[in-house]
Amino acid sequence: MSRILIIHTGGTIGMTKKDNGYVPDGEYFRKAVFHMDSLRAEGMPEWNLVETDPLLDSSRVTVAEWNRIGSLVAENYENYDGFVILHGTDTMAYTASALSFMFKGLNKPVILTGSQIPLCETRSDGRDNLITSMIIAGTGKVREVCIYFGGLLLRGNRATKYSADGMQAFVSPNYPPLASAGISIQYNEAAFLKKRADRFSFRKLEDVPIGVIKVFPGIRFELFEPLLTDKLKGIVAETFGSGNIPDDRGVLLPMLEKAVNTVLVVCSQCPQATVDMNTYEAGNTLKKAGAVSGRDMTTEAAVAKLYYLFSVYDDPQRIKFSMERDIRGELTQKYDI
Ligand code: ASP
Repeated sequence: MSRILIIHTGGTIGMTKKDNGYVPDGEYFRKAVFHMDSLRAEGMPEWNLVETDPLLDSSRVTVAEWNRIGSLVAENYENYDGFVILHGTDTMAYTASALSFMFKGLNKPVILTGSQIPLCETRSDGRDNLITSMIIAGTGKVREVCIYFGGLLLRGNRATKYSADGMQAFVSPNYPPLASAGISIQYNEAAFLKKRADRFSFRKLEDVPIGVIKVFPGIRFELFEPLLTDKLKGIVAETFGSGNIPDDRGVLLPMLEKAVNTVLVVCSQCPQATVDMNTYEAGNTLKKAGAVSGRDMTTEAAVAKLYYLFSVYDDPQRIKFSMERDIRGELTQKYDI
């Protein structure tokens, strides 16, 4: 029988309602799962449960929590066949992306899940999300960090939160699902990351100062000049379409030329897109200024990758080089870069 470790970090799945709204409730959650007979039914993996302290609404998760969750997986890596991480949906895609970079040579499933309705409520989606994630983690087929939610298994660093209302909270606009769970679980093995030959290792992330800017019609680029100091190591710019920005009236190039050590990554506001700054003149300014293409990465993956690369390398040129290349299946790499 396979053994899995469930790591409860907070989020709606284990929340109960208090005076000011829903908050994580470890005591309730522990009791609820220990009384769920289906978690011990035949065919289910053996499991243990650990909790991070404090349990958090995931909107409050920081790099410190990513490091704590990653450490828990790393410390227990040899003792379990798979891991299920219960996490709030708000920043689940960021945590999944961060973990995907922190683990190298991962050969076991790490499945993040949660729910839109708390387990304490009758219509909770948490029960199925938890049970199916445990089964997927127990079978050991996927060897990557994934999100399982509402019947779909998605690569973690390709997923983005799409709905705050529906039971299908996540989509993976630029990469197919790794599995779908209907009457049976259908795996899309062709989409899995290939088995890695390197040994499993784990790297903590540094809390590097980075930023995200979303462009909009009328944006005044000059207002951002005071931010562009050596203190700001990286920026993810959410641009229009395939990497286009409004007319900068000639201010952007000189600004960015001064900020040579800041890594500017160009992503798209369109969930389904691949950035190509050569397509339109409106994208070319960024390219001339030394920005790198985020290609088809989600903003979540680009943010997590910046944290990771700045934790590994000092040289901004080295970071720019790696940013455009596929490290953990987070982007589709063209051969001509
Ligand atoms: N605010 C909650 C959280 O992210 C939402 C959820 O879990 O669905 O922790």
